Amino acid sequence: MSDNTARDSAYKEPVILLGLGAMGAALADAWLTAGHPLTVWNRDPRRAEPFAARGATVAATAAEAVASGRLVVLCLLDDDSVDEALTGADLTDRDLVNLTTGTPLRARDRATWAQARGARFLDGGIMAVPPMIGTPESGGYVFYSGSAASFEDHRHTLAVPAGTRYVGEDPGFAALHDVALLSAMYGAFSGIAHAFALIRREAVDPEKFAPLLVDWLTAMVPAAHTTAERLNSGDHTSGVVSGLAMQVAGSATLVRTAEDQGVSTALLSPYLNLMERLLREGGHDEEDTARVIDLLVG
Ligand code: NDP
Repeated sequence: MSDNTARDSAYKEPVILLGLGAMGAALADAWLTAGHPLTVWNRDPRRAEPFAARGATVAATAAEAVASGRLVVLCLLDDDSVDEALTGADLTDRDLVNLTTGTPLRARDRATWAQARGARFLDGGIMAVPPMIGTPESGGYVFYSGSAASFEDHRHTLAVPAGTRYVGEDPGFAALHDVALLSAMYGAFSGIAHAFALIRREAVDPEKFAPLLVDWLTAMVPAAHTTAERLNSGDHTSGVVSGLAMQVAGSATLVRTAEDQGVSTALLSPYLNLMERLLREGGHDEEDTARVIDLLVG
């Protein structure tokens, strides 16, 4: 495929897709809807039938699928299933794009492994659920990292199912960004669960409480920008409005209230404990709570 061909807006690049689970099926649907020639393979061939009916070519094996073209996208359950699917496939001159969720370390290993077999490698982290795929207004997107040349050659095709965010040549970066954002999400969800637990046995309507929770978190979350600036500057004291000593004193009320309400502090305590530990170390009273990050990374 020449660059000129790829840039021709009428040209629809062929895509080979391994994996037609919930996410793979959504990807297949998006590429077919956009008119891309699609070759699919799925371990259970029944999942390929609806796509065959819509014009997709169905490969009998993963190796046969990989042999049929250049751009090979994988969306399988986990790293082990990718290993299994690619065993015996000839990857020479292939552009491998692995959208299967995995760790940064495995992505780096996979890149080395793929390059040794003559392929260029991109790893992807999907920040969307299947209904968001092929729906640009949903805001879903995919992190990509690895071969910049491969991303550049296929960026228009990769942008069909969801927005693309290329985060660097390090093949582990897509997974790193993916996992970092998912981890932040679980932290936020744990706070939300604790808040609902506090009101659970009270005459507070959860549906009236939810908008208050969402508005409050929305107002607080931009603090991440200040945290990033502090991490870059190393300045943890300038412009601090709620210093560590004040926050630790205040957090005792959070713990007491949970106990009074008969609510476990299991979700709340880990972060508060880190703040207390920092305070005990001394010298951090007036600092921003962003300092706890230093305790986490050792
Ligand atoms: P599903 O469980 O719906 O599908 C799993 C897919 O993996 C199926 O195609 C299955 O094939 C295949 N598979 C499992 N084991 C093997 C194996 N040993 N060899 C070959 N193929 C195998 O998962 P999803 O489609 O939802 O997820 C796929 C990837 O996308 C995952 O890594 C997931 O983390 C990621 N993702 C999913 C999201 C979601 O909301 N669904 C959101 C973001 C990322 P078979 O049909 O034969 O069982």
